[in-house]
Amino acid sequence: MIEKTRHIKDTKKLVGQLPTIRYVEPKYAFCATTNARCAKYELFVKEGDHVNKCQQIGVRNGGFFEQPIHSPCSGTFVGLEKHYHRNGKLIDFIKIENDFKDTFDPSCKERTPEEIAKLTKAEMTEIIKKCGLVGLGGSSFPTYIKFQTDKPINLILINGIECEPYITSDHRIMLEYPYRIINGIKYVMQAFNCKKALICIKSKYKDIEAAYKEILKEFEGSGIELCLVKNYYPQGWEVAMIKEATGIKLNPGELPSNRGIINFNVSTIIGVYKAIKYNMPVVKRNITITGDGITHPHNFRVLVGTPIKELIPLCGGYKNPEKDKVFILGGPMMGASVPSDDCIITKTVTSIIVFDKASYKEEPCVRCGSCVLSCPVGLEPVQIMNAVKSLDKERIKALNPLKCIECGLCAYSCTSKIQVTDYIRRAKIFAKL
Ligand code: SF4
Ligand code: SF4
Repeated sequence: MIEKTRHIKDTKKLVGQLPTIRYVEPKYAFCATTNARCAKYELFVKEGDHVNKCQQIGVRNGGFFEQPIHSPCSGTFVGLEKHYHRNGKLIDFIKIENDFKDTFDPSCKERTPEEIAKLTKAEMTEIIKKCGLVGLGGSSFPTYIKFQTDKPINLILINGIECEPYITSDHRIMLEYPYRIINGIKYVMQAFNCKKALICIKSKYKDIEAAYKEILKEFEGSGIELCLVKNYYPQGWEVAMIKEATGIKLNPGELPSNRGIINFNVSTIIGVYKAIKYNMPVVKRNITITGDGITHPHNFRVLVGTPIKELIPLCGGYKNPEKDKVFILGGPMMGASVPSDDCIITKTVTSIIVFDKASYKEEPCVRCGSCVLSCPVGLEPVQIMNAVKSLDKERIKALNPLKCIECGLCAYSCTSKIQVTDYIRRAKIFAKL
C-alpha cells in the first residue's frame, strides 16, 4: 500500500529527453525585492542608473541573514514593477532594461586552479555569501550558512533525485553540465576536507547513470561516486535521501551535519562552481515548462529575471486556450499556484506547470487510511484534518502537524479527492498560535 501511494505517475517523459533551449535575452529582466525568507530590502541604485551584469544592486534583509541582489544583465535600472513571485504573492520587482552588451561587473574574475587550491573553507564561505547563493532546488536556504557548520563532514551528498513529477530541469542539467557539477563537488570536498561524495539519482534515470559511470572514470580516486536510490516520492527529501544513501535515520529536526553529512542540490552545486571559479552569482537557471495546458513542453536555460510570459510562445502557446488554466511554480506536489502567468523566474523557480482547470468534487472521508499510510513522516493527516474542522487546538498540537514537510502525498493519495494537505497547512498555523 505504501509503495502504491508513494509511486507518483511518471510524467517526466514529456520533456526529459529534449535538449535544453537557451533563451538568455529578455528585453527586461526583473529582480525580486523580497521573498519568503526576506521581508525587507534596500536598493543601491536609483532610476536611470547604468548597471553591470552581476553587479550588486541591493540587498534583501531576512531575520538573521542578508541576501545580496545582483543584476542578471547589463543595462539601465528603470524602476519597480509588480509581478507574481513564486510564493504566490504580488510583489515589487526591480526592472532592468537589458542593453544586450553583457558588460560584466569587474567583481567577476576567473580564479586559476592554483588560487582555488589555496582557498580555505572560511574564504569559500565568504565568496558564496557575497554571491548570494541559496538552495536552488527550491529551498532558497542560504548556502553560506550550511558552509559555516563547525561539525566535521565526512560525506557530501548531491541531490539529483528531482522526485517531483513533471520537472526535468535538474535531469537536463546533470546531462548537460557534468563537469561543472563534478568540479563544484571537488570545491566543496576541499572546503570541508572531505574524502567522499555521492551523487544521488533515482535508479530509473538510466541515461544519467550511463553518462556518469563513464565520466566518473576520469575522476577515479576522487572519492566521487554515483548512488542509485529507489524511485519513490519523496526520495528527494533530505531525510529520505540520507536514509537511502547511508542507512542513517535522522531524528526529527536533526541536522545532517550532526552525522557528518552535508547535502546540496545539483543546481546549487553548479552555483558553488560558478561562485568559486568565476566569482559569479547565479544569473541563469534551468527551468521546465510543462503540463497538459502547454502545447510543446520544453526545458529552458534563461536569465534569472525573465518573465514567464515570454517563454510560453516558444512552447507553441497554451493548448486549449479557451480553457481556464492553473499555474504552478515548482512541482505539482510542493509548488505554489499563482493566479496568472504574470510571474518572474527567480533563482529558485525550477518549473512552471500549466494545467487546464478541472473541477473536482470532494467526497466525504471514507476512513480508508491512505493518507496515513502515505505520510513519510508518520503523521495521521485524517486526524489532523478532523481536529482542524472542529477547531480543537489542543488536539491539533498533540498530533504534531509541524513535522509535516508539505510533500502533498496525503492529498495525492486521498480516495475522496480531499485537499488534505491544505488542512495540514492550516493546522501548522494553529499549532504555532
Ligand atoms: S503533506 Fe504533510 S501530512 Fe501530508 S503526507 Fe506529506 S508530510 Fe504527511
Ligand atoms: S482523508 Fe482521504 S485518504 Fe485520508 S482516510 Fe479520509 S478518505 Fe482516506
